[in-house]
Amino acid sequence: ENLVRHFAVGRAGLLGPRLTVKAVDDVSFSIRKGEVLGIVGESGCGKSSVAKAILNIHSPSAGRVRLRGTDLTTLSAAAWREMRRKIQYVFQDPLNSLDPRIRILEQVIEPLTIHRIGDRRARAEKASGMLAAVGLGPAHHRKFPHELSGGQQQRVVLARALVLEPEIVICDEPISALDVSIQAQVVQLLQKLRAELGLTILFISHDLSIVRFLCDRVAVMYLGRIVEFAATGELFDRPRHPYTEALIAAIPIPVPGARTDRTLLEGEPPSPIHLPTGCRFNPRCRRAIALCRQTEPALLDAADAHFTACHLAHEGTG
Ligand code: SF4
Ligand code: MG
Repeated sequence: ENLVRHFAVGRAGLLGPRLTVKAVDDVSFSIRKGEVLGIVGESGCGKSSVAKAILNIHSPSAGRVRLRGTDLTTLSAAAWREMRRKIQYVFQDPLNSLDPRIRILEQVIEPLTIHRIGDRRARAEKASGMLAAVGLGPAHHRKFPHELSGGQQQRVVLARALVLEPEIVICDEPISALDVSIQAQVVQLLQKLRAELGLTILFISHDLSIVRFLCDRVAVMYLGRIVEFAATGELFDRPRHPYTEALIAAIPIPVPGARTDRTLLEGEPPSPIHLPTGCRFNPRCRRAIALCRQTEPALLDAADAHFTACHLAHEGTG
């Protein structure tokens, strides 16, 4: 709720005060149990900062994060250790999450040991069951991470996260580091696990095709803010924000001879230090009107739980 994460950059001095990067600038959303919620946007839009604020890796500058009734932003360090079991995360590079000296089965037993779940035997059973669920049989148990492919390594990371039966899994670009052929396998695995285990997932990605396949609802972020938020089908079929339209138009079309008159997004996002006045998308927006350079549009329900932060959508002319 109203999540803010500001970073100070540079040093105060003759040139003026320290500058502030607004990585996350008043972001609110909720995830329902059993839902896969996607957050998409270009790199630097604040997606990962949202994840890190939720996980308390970087504590939020303002706002609240609640899991059921518990306000995570006010938890003590001890309470956070307990909470870690309920909120697991999977990041981009699997090798950063695995200890190179520990065999695969032990990697998955370890979180159970840390959280003192079950005895030695129960932990081994649980870990091997979870490895089987991600498609890694006993033949892999005694291997070290470097003996596995990138896709297999990410399966181990997933098994480590899921063995704790978390309430929510935060996946930040979990397959971006993998070969394209392996990406599809891991996405299908996530889909399968989601159905079998009833997982609740926050799925962060810049890849709209994957988000479309996997997510129930999608939030589109631009320069620290959510600019559009809707059910996946609704968002892809009827995008209302010009930025979302441009992102969707830029999805590669895998059909030979497909139409190529696509609206491509021009230029880079402006610096989050010097945000444009008015709508932060206005310097890149083909539809901008005078109002867009003066007033920042609020994120409003434009139609039946389809939220859009665009003046045109609000006037019904978008
Ligand atoms: Fe474009 Fe204006 Fe809508 Fe911003 S508010 S997205 S500049 S039309
Ligand atoms: Mg990121």
